[in-house]
Amino acid sequence: MRKNSGNNGPILNIKHGILCNVYDLLLNELGPQYWWPAQTPFEVVVGAMLTQQTKWTNVEKAICGLKAQGLLEVQALAEADSALIEELVKCCGFYRQKASRIKAIAGFFAENDVDTVFSMQVEDLRKTMLSLKGIGNETADSIVLYAAGKPKFVIDAYTTRMLKCIGIKGNYIELQGMFESSLPENVDIYKEYHALIVEYSKTFCGRKRCEECILKDLNKNGY
Ligand code: SF4
Repeated sequence: MRKNSGNNGPILNIKHGILCNVYDLLLNELGPQYWWPAQTPFEVVVGAMLTQQTKWTNVEKAICGLKAQGLLEVQALAEADSALIEELVKCCGFYRQKASRIKAIAGFFAENDVDTVFSMQVEDLRKTMLSLKGIGNETADSIVLYAAGKPKFVIDAYTTRMLKCIGIKGNYIELQGMFESSLPENVDIYKEYHALIVEYSKTFCGRKRCEECILKDLNKNGY
């Protein structure tokens, strides 16, 4: 099991509760992840929509193809031929639906300046994203956090499973509330924490390495 030596990830200054302990354990184990891997906020938006129900490796392939065609620009994607977009995102599954949705959100940003939209208050921005077709809680919060750089904790299936293992259950909003009330309101911490959960889940949970789980003692301690 690899231990991170001398990590430089964002450090929690206020420490209380199990969710802070989990963060420390994950950061120590995996080291900083520095998400989201994208060059522009709009690339984050497109990636957040494409990643629904597929692996990130498929998203990377699609992003690469879109970039090569110059379609990671708002106006270009909004005006692009639907068949071409479908071809480029085919590797992500549900490609007709995803092509139509990324074209639609490009259309939204073509009519509403990205910087202006992302300067909205967190809750207003979240509501605006949720009002767009194909955007649910997880995608909206990924956009708010990673594209707009505003403090909204992202919950996904990995997070829900991990928390269940340490005895914490709840719906999306309840779990999000637990993180946000336990952690300092810090965008870098929120970004890093979600990335660590994803990485840990892929490396340990997904490979059924539960015997080696660094979180199991937390559960034994009665959390
Ligand atoms: S490694 Fe296993 S026990 Fe640990 S969080 Fe993942 S699924 Fe749960």
